[in-house]
This record gives sequence, C-alpha cells and structure tokens, in this order.
Amino acid sequence: MTDLTSDLIPEPLPMAFAQLQLAAPLARAIAEMGYESMTPIQAQAIPVVLQGRDVMGAAQTGTGKTAAFSLPLLQRMLQHESSSTSPARHPVRALVLLPTRELADQVAQAIKDYAKYTLLRSAVVFGGIDMKPQTIELKKGVEILVATPGRLLDHIEAKNAVLNQVEYVVLDEADRMLDIGFLPDLQRILSYLPKQRTTLLFSATFSPEIKRLASSYLQSPVTIEVGGSNGTASTVEQHFYSVGDDDKRHALHQILKARGLKQAFVFVNSKLGCARLARSLEREGLNTTALHGDKSQDERLKALEAFKSGEVDLLVCTDVAARGLDIKDVPAVFNFDIPFNAEDYVHRIGRTGRAGALGLALSFVSKSDARLVADIEKLLKTKFELEAVEFDEDVPDIRRQGRINDGRRMYAQPVQDDDPHGGHRHGALRDVAREGQFARPERPLRRDYSRPAQAPRDPFFDKPYEASTAAEKAPAWEATVARHGARSISANIKPKRRVAALFKSE
Ligand code: AMP
Repeated sequence: MTDLTSDLIPEPLPMAFAQLQLAAPLARAIAEMGYESMTPIQAQAIPVVLQGRDVMGAAQTGTGKTAAFSLPLLQRMLQHESSSTSPARHPVRALVLLPTRELADQVAQAIKDYAKYTLLRSAVVFGGIDMKPQTIELKKGVEILVATPGRLLDHIEAKNAVLNQVEYVVLDEADRMLDIGFLPDLQRILSYLPKQRTTLLFSATFSPEIKRLASSYLQSPVTIEVGGSNGTASTVEQHFYSVGDDDKRHALHQILKARGLKQAFVFVNSKLGCARLARSLEREGLNTTALHGDKSQDERLKALEAFKSGEVDLLVCTDVAARGLDIKDVPAVFNFDIPFNAEDYVHRIGRTGRAGALGLALSFVSKSDARLVADIEKLLKTKFELEAVEFDEDVPDIRRQGRINDGRRMYAQPVQDDDPHGGHRHGALRDVAREGQFARPERPLRRDYSRPAQAPRDPFFDKPYEASTAAEKAPAWEATVARHGARSISANIKPKRRVAALFKSE
C-alpha cells in the first residue's frame, strides 16, 4: 500500500499534436483521423505517461481520454515492435480493463486505429461470446490486450493469457467497475501483474472507494482533473424543466419539436420504465429503440447500431446500459427521470457535447425530485433554475392519445395505459371515432380512474421490447433530417449470437 502523494497539475491550453513529436506511424494515424490539437486531458496526460508516471485521471468519456492513455503507451511500446511470427515475441505488455463489452470493443477499435501503422498487435476479450476465437488470437501473441475483468480471468485460468510481462495497466471507467462489483476480479488480475509497471486509473469521479483503489495500486500518481473531478463538459447547455410525471411525454414531444432536435438519448431510472417508455414513444410515432440491462447482448448491440446509423432517432436507456458509449454528435440528452445518484447525471450528460461539440442536457423535474436535483446542484456546485415547458397548440397532447391494436388512433383515458414508470394501471381506451388523426377532443373527457373489473394482462410484460425495423425516415417531429455518419460495430462482436446480459444488477 503506497501513499497517495500526488501532484495536482494545472490545466494547460490544448496543444497541437505536432508538438509532441510522436513517432511517425502514430502521427500518421491520428492525422488520418483528423486530430489536430489535443483535448485538455490529452495535453495533460500524454506527456506524463510518456515519462512513465502513474496517473489518476478524472475524466468522463467524450473528453478524448482513450487517446490520452493509448498514444503514449503505444509510443513507449514501439521499442518492442517485432515482425516475428513467434508468439514469444509478442507478449502482453499493456492491459486495458473496462467495465462493459461495448466499451471494451470501442476502446479496442480506437487502439487498433491508432496502432494501424505499427507492428504492435492488439486484441479484445469480453464475455458472452465464444472463447475459442479469442483464445486463438491470444495464443498468436498480442502486445495490447483490452478486456473486461470476468472474461480475462477465464483466459488467465485457461492459461491463454500470461500477464507476467505487463508494463502498463489502464483501469478505465474504474468507478463503474467498482459499481458493478468487479473489485475482487480486479484485485485478482492485478495480483498476476509485475509490481514494476505503470498504472493509469481513469474515473469520472474520485469517490472515496476510487481513492482507496488508487492508494493500493498506484505509485505516486500524478492527478489530472479536467474541469474538476465531478465537472460536466462546459460545452453542454443544461436546462431543468418543471414537469409533472403525467406530462413528461408531452413535454418530450414539445421540446424535440421546438428545438428541432434530430436525435437524443432519453434516460430513465428503471429497466421496466425504459422498455415501457420506448414502447409508448414508438406508438406515438417517434422512431425509438430501447437499451437496458434486460436486453440480450445481441439486442443491445442492434439498438446501439440502429441509433448510430440514424435508423432510430431516440434511444431510451438506463444508466448501466449507456455508460461510456462513444456515439458522436448526440445533440441532446433528456433526463426523463432525474437519476437517483447525482454522479449518474454527470455520466448521462457526458453523452452530449463530446470532444468540443455543443450539447444539450434537458432534465424533467417533478415534485418528488427536489432532493435529487439538490444533490446534483451540490455535486456540480451550481444552482439550476426550474423552467416551465411552453406547449404549442400543434404538439399533440400525448396524455389524451393512444392507438388501439389495429393501428387506429384514439383517445384514451388519461395516462394509465402507458405509464412509463411501470404502474400496472390499465385504463381502458375509449374510441371516439377519430381514425388516423391527432386532434383535441371538443369536450373534455370524463376521467374515470376506476380499474376495469378484469384488467387483461398486458402482453408487454411477457416479451421484451422490440424496436420497429422501420426503414430510414425523418424523425416524427421534423420533416427532414440530416443523418449522422454511421459507425459500424466491429467484427469482434458477432450479432448473430444471443448471449446473457452482462450486468449483474441494475
Ligand atoms: P473518448 O473520450 O476517448 O471516448 O473520445 C471521444 C471522441 O473524441 C472519440 O470519437 C475520439 O475519436 C474523438 N477524439 C479524441 N481525441 C480527439 C482530438 N484530439 N481531436 C478530435 N477528436 C478527438
């Protein structure tokens, strides 16, 4: 156990990559990717890692931290480049650990891109897919291994991965790894590594648990904080709207339209709420998919890919499912529910305003959320003003609408049918004979909150939400949409396989 004696270094202005004098193969790769100047975390971390110092970095995803640790590691490992086909000449020298398969795959892709003009080999291993192809790749020898902890332990036990020559370890999204319960796995993995090594720990926040982890495994680390350990990207505009639970979907439609948003993440607090909200929004004509921990890996990857390719406009998701995903140009993040944990707010809004792009974080605050908002204000040391949503006449009042199974739109008893929070209330839909159109009723509907005598079991509870496979179309709230560049999922993930969900709990 070492003392956590760290120097806090000031945040310098971003520098040009050219000033770093990276080796030609790396400089060429990043130039091809269009990187010119370093992001603040890169400007701070790269020189320190190049010196071989340990780093404790507070940076959320979207700040460019993958390059911040990968580029200096690759630069230092170039001395080991070998064209030999012998596996012995390609021992694992750098290990990057991440909490989720999606993140591991994303980081592994970035490293492959940065290293593409070098002879250094990299591979990624994560659970839920066949170990065999991973084993074959590991046996051939790789210098950089990106992994999730559980599957790495499987490979260690099977003697496919030998870690006694590791020189660099990166614990990325360390706070999330601890949240998920990976601490025992991490401790075991770290026990296999040589004591003499460089260790880099990145976390969105520096909780007491993270500090304990760092004090156990890092040697005199340099602490690097970008915008404060719990800071949010300064390029994210934040709004808090006072919205009753029953008005949230209506408010979502209104804001999407009023702000001309093309795509957005919509965060909810529970898996069931996530699936129900996605289903409701889809029925209300919004092109929506859901991402939550109860979905199979295959379904989650498909949902993600559909969003990335612009096939869907809204990705309704829970915190666990969406942590750390690098999807560029998400114009807005909605907090349909205020997160229970203030730090999750920071993670959520980190999906927008990434790498210098402007972003928008829109949070719906109902009466019972006052304490949660106060927690966020305390964490961010900011006071937020509650705003009211101004509803346009032409934005349909969702509370009064529904669609019966044959596709006819109809007025519903207020809200109960689609309560996104999983209430098991079943308000019977009342056909007012207005097929295929949204319009306000001439007379207010008489509210009847009594339960039907025998509420039919909603088949929704028996099957997972499935997004429609609708062909590319403009978002419902806008006539035309400029589509975002698609980024395909790597060949490492085989969407054909159905696998168990990664997360133990949500
Ligand atoms: P990360 O935080 O590592 O997930 O990176 C977020 C996104 O920013 C990724 O799509 C990177 O390709 C991109 N990025 C990282 N560094 C830079 C840079 N210096 N200039 C432009 N884009 C960058």
